[in-house]
Amino acid sequence: MLIVLHHSATSKDVENIKKTIAKMGLKPVAIPGAERTAIGVIGNQGYVDDTPLKGNKAILEIIHVTKPYKLVSRDFHPADTVVTLGGKVKVGGRSPYLVIAGPCAVESRDQMMKTAGFLKKLGVPVLRGGAYKPRTSPHSFQGLRESGLSLLHEVRKETGLLVVTEIVSPEHVEIVAANVDILQVGARNMQNFDLLNEVGKTKKPVILKRGLSATLEEWLASAEYILVNGNPNVILCERGIRTFETATRNTADLAIIPLARKLSHLPVIFDPSHATGKRDLVSPMALASIVAGAHGAMIEVHPAPEHALSDGPQSLHFKELEQLLGRVKTLAAFVRAKL
Ligand code: PEP
Ligand code: MN
Repeated sequence: MLIVLHHSATSKDVENIKKTIAKMGLKPVAIPGAERTAIGVIGNQGYVDDTPLKGNKAILEIIHVTKPYKLVSRDFHPADTVVTLGGKVKVGGRSPYLVIAGPCAVESRDQMMKTAGFLKKLGVPVLRGGAYKPRTSPHSFQGLRESGLSLLHEVRKETGLLVVTEIVSPEHVEIVAANVDILQVGARNMQNFDLLNEVGKTKKPVILKRGLSATLEEWLASAEYILVNGNPNVILCERGIRTFETATRNTADLAIIPLARKLSHLPVIFDPSHATGKRDLVSPMALASIVAGAHGAMIEVHPAPEHALSDGPQSLHFKELEQLLGRVKTLAAFVRAKL
């Protein structure tokens, strides 16, 4: 429920309404905004009987929200959310287009140090690398797990780069959060509600990937789990969806980027690596995401993609990433200035 107040409403009116909401057993949430004063209501599991609020002269309108998400919606938070990573890098709103890059999986110290050194040279602030790998086949490389986390921690300490890694189990929240700057919830776990609840209890930024066949509404409802638990630092990541088309690994749903931005205030980034599965398609699609309004991209890169233990065919060579970054810079500046 959303309560829109008259412009003339005083702070005392706001306090009174909040008290009434609390008495109804619900939770009021402040909705910032210059254009209107409004109070959101959460904590209900169905239609709210608004009788106790009826007749309150300070109230202009009571809107019953029927969507399965509230806190992530523009109704509850009209302005863009800007998420700060590691206390220094911003994503969302008018922040510069953010590039996150790194291998699919953490494989060795040498691989991570080579990649980190290259990213540093290029000015890429965030390194990715999976320690726990959710693989389709149990016979595929499953990740270095705890020792992969230690490597990420070491590289982060040595290079000052921010680090993101995927978390696959609610029991891992503590250990993963202690070693990295950003948590990633993968496509396969988008509706792992226990995991969403646990990452919601931390204050770490969370990259929430869209599920393999998830609708926008389901994706936003999953983000809502994280916000409801108290963590507002969620970044949505479109990574392609399952369709009839098998020429690409997934179908890049670029149209969902402006639509997600229209419905939600959260930053939206794009993963052209998993969205296409093909190295040659990564750069054009990363560029397309800038025009579509993405706030950044997460791109797989590997010192020797032909020897990668996972996702080699979609991983860029260093030289290709360098060339792409030059183009990203030019196009992002053009889009910012002209569109
Ligand atoms: C990944 O980022 O390596 C990954 C497994 O992605 P997704 O969850 O989108 O498949
Ligand atoms: Mn991958």
